[in-house]
Amino acid sequence: MSEELQKLIPLSELAPKGSSSSAAVKVAFWTLGCRLNQYDTEGLKTAMNSRFLMEVVPWKEKAHVYVLNSCTVTHKADQECRRLARQAKRRHPESKVVVAGCYAQTQPEALSNISEIDAVIGNANKDDVEQWLPQVLGQDHPLLAVDDFQVHPVFDSPVIDSFTGRSRAFVKIQDGCNLRCTYCLIWQARGPGRSRTQEDIFLQLQALVDNGYSETILAGIHLGGYGRDLSPRLPLVDLLRNILQRFPQLRIRLSSIHPNEVSEELLDLYRQHENMRPHLHISLQSGSSTVLKRMKRPYGSDRAWEALKQVSAANPEFGIGADIIVGFPGETDEEFEETRRMVEDLPFSYLHVFRFSPRPGTPAAEMKPQISPQVITHRSEVLRQLAARKKEEFEKKFIGSVREVVIEADGGRDGFKNATTDNYLSVLVEGDFPAGTLAQVEITCVSEGSLIGKIKQILNENQGE
Ligand code: SF4
Repeated sequence: MSEELQKLIPLSELAPKGSSSSAAVKVAFWTLGCRLNQYDTEGLKTAMNSRFLMEVVPWKEKAHVYVLNSCTVTHKADQECRRLARQAKRRHPESKVVVAGCYAQTQPEALSNISEIDAVIGNANKDDVEQWLPQVLGQDHPLLAVDDFQVHPVFDSPVIDSFTGRSRAFVKIQDGCNLRCTYCLIWQARGPGRSRTQEDIFLQLQALVDNGYSETILAGIHLGGYGRDLSPRLPLVDLLRNILQRFPQLRIRLSSIHPNEVSEELLDLYRQHENMRPHLHISLQSGSSTVLKRMKRPYGSDRAWEALKQVSAANPEFGIGADIIVGFPGETDEEFEETRRMVEDLPFSYLHVFRFSPRPGTPAAEMKPQISPQVITHRSEVLRQLAARKKEEFEKKFIGSVREVVIEADGGRDGFKNATTDNYLSVLVEGDFPAGTLAQVEITCVSEGSLIGKIKQILNENQGE
């Protein structure tokens, strides 16, 4: 380690929190992937900060340790992780590069064979920072800390009090998954489905409310599976009802659910509570029952049609998004047309279109025939164009209306701040308002493809950041 860095912290004296030493360990973080990974990175910062004298520095700056919280949902995510690890080491050869997260949990050997990587920390181990951080800093040979999940059956996560760069905070309330969709590696990366206790969720929400957050997005790998492992069981709808009662000011958004988890009981919560943001992101994947069957998804296209009609009947202003995979093995033109027609006929306000990515060790990677990249590109383009048209149509419905928004920490353009409405529209709001501001906004027009709005009333002066 260079003299300059040595001066900052003698390796042997990694200073525990509260010590008189002034030598803080400099740590830079980079997160790939989903909301849960982003939450986990905040958890890592909190855990490290509570135990060591540390300073979080931007990724491009000099640091003792670079922590890459990885994703493995596609081969591109793996590639990006390897590129960032090599980049960090090239820039700072004397520093330590740690790869944690889903890629680390599923392919530890492959990563530990990369000379630029000094430590591989699995999802089951990453919260044990007091174990692995001193080891990483204190040794010159690679560290491999990747336990099997069976060892950690319970939900485990520190309470965070802020969310770097965000004015609406993700809160992880569920982790892992007990389903076995044929294209998915996540259940291997994140282990069995496990839920956070209501008490712990309340502690987490209180910490964010105390820090001025007015909206939280409840997230999980299989959110709809929340509470099934708790004793007594606590269904997601009951948890939501308790949160709404305990935090009457807090706006609640769900990260994503499966079509078969849309129930009248859930929709009643949206009808009865304005704080339930009228937006649902559906993990749909396909509109064809035969494809859904090959994916081993727990519902058919009939149930998906029914669920999406239920949602729009509950509130036609509901923002409805969905994840769709195109090019799943064996997907015929007819099967793709079933998906295209579902998107055409149902009131989606946006789509996330994913190209099928064969993941090593999944049944779908072995399925025949694999669809050609050209056909996948064509089908992705068809769905993306359709989704863009539907998004525009949905946005235009709200010109002249007043919606509740939260001012975002990023985005925006000169003289305008980026904001997110209750039903998940992006609006450019005229003026300069702190991130986290909750307000009523009148949507006035579309300009250069963006909705424009002006503040009618500020609902909270607090700032999320
Ligand atoms: S529900 Fe399916 S796709 Fe989602 S994490 Fe579980 S196994 Fe993977």
